[in-house]
Amino acid sequence: MKSKVFLGLGSNIGDTMQNMNNALVFLQEKIHMTNKSSYYKTEPVGYKEQDWFLNMVIEGETHLSPQELLDFTQSIEMKMKRVKTIINGPRIIDIDILLYSNIEIISKELTIPHPRMFERAFVIVPLSEIAPDMIINGKPIKDILFDINDEKVYKVVNDMEKINSILSDEEYISYLEKNKNNEECRIFCHHDITHFLDVSRIAWILNLEENLNLDKEVVYAASLLHDIGRWQEYEMNINHEIASADLAENILNKYEFTEKQKHMILTAIRNHRSKENTDNISRIIYTADKLSRPCFNCAAIDKCKRFKDGEKPKLLY
Ligand code: ADP
Ligand code: MG
Repeated sequence: MKSKVFLGLGSNIGDTMQNMNNALVFLQEKIHMTNKSSYYKTEPVGYKEQDWFLNMVIEGETHLSPQELLDFTQSIEMKMKRVKTIINGPRIIDIDILLYSNIEIISKELTIPHPRMFERAFVIVPLSEIAPDMIINGKPIKDILFDINDEKVYKVVNDMEKINSILSDEEYISYLEKNKNNEECRIFCHHDITHFLDVSRIAWILNLEENLNLDKEVVYAASLLHDIGRWQEYEMNINHEIASADLAENILNKYEFTEKQKHMILTAIRNHRSKENTDNISRIIYTADKLSRPCFNCAAIDKCKRFKDGEKPKLLY
């Protein structure tokens, strides 16, 4: 049986983002990662004469026992050449076991929940991002967060490498090409990269306006991929929301999206033509898709099914 674990990662030497990503690759040999927080830039705690840290928290499932998990995380620290210096001092990588199911352990080498996590904003802030309703030792994480003093912890907002990877992915580009070939003579809206970027940006604006706190990578990935299978509707008569989700899954699998991110993105793609969406991501992709179309400026409006009965497009803000 697998157990649910939360791990805290930190790095403040060298290319900290690269160190973090290397550690994630090593960890996935024995941990199935189910969610991960954003990256956070954090002020060092205790010993101040060192660079700021990059921190994050991941959630995963593992067959390892707590002790085996500690051995495994320490073997990764050693592989990445972590050198022990002063307490709270600089390090290439630090991997802490925060929680292991509901288990409590107090031994010389291992204490779970991690004994210092409750006063560390660099742990509690990313943890509460991915587990906002968690209760630890009888206390809701929101209350723990509230009681923490104001250490500086800043979310790294522009973590968009995976999105740039999609934009230059050969498979992705080949589907854009297929859409283009099928739409050469189409008088109505095209399903091209201009449309995909418009939907991405409008969806992101909606997320900000509505304070939805959605993951930027999820919003962009869903927007950039939502019509990627349109050509299959022309060529094989497959509904394009289904075709797009199938093709998108393959692309997402290449770029280490978490299971939760993938689930949200694929759900939004499958739902992007439905008015009846209850989840936020599906709803804003649907709305952004509609808002992105410049109907007010369209020569084919009298033939378009959006304006069947001689209706005129209404200009909205
Ligand atoms: P810190 O993470 O507090 O800066 P270190 O990474 O240097 O400190 O860890 C010191 C020791 O803490 C490790 O050798 C390990 O045996 C012990 N330890 C106790 N509980 C845990 C835990 N939950 N996760 C990781 N290490 C732990
Ligand atoms: Mg540690």
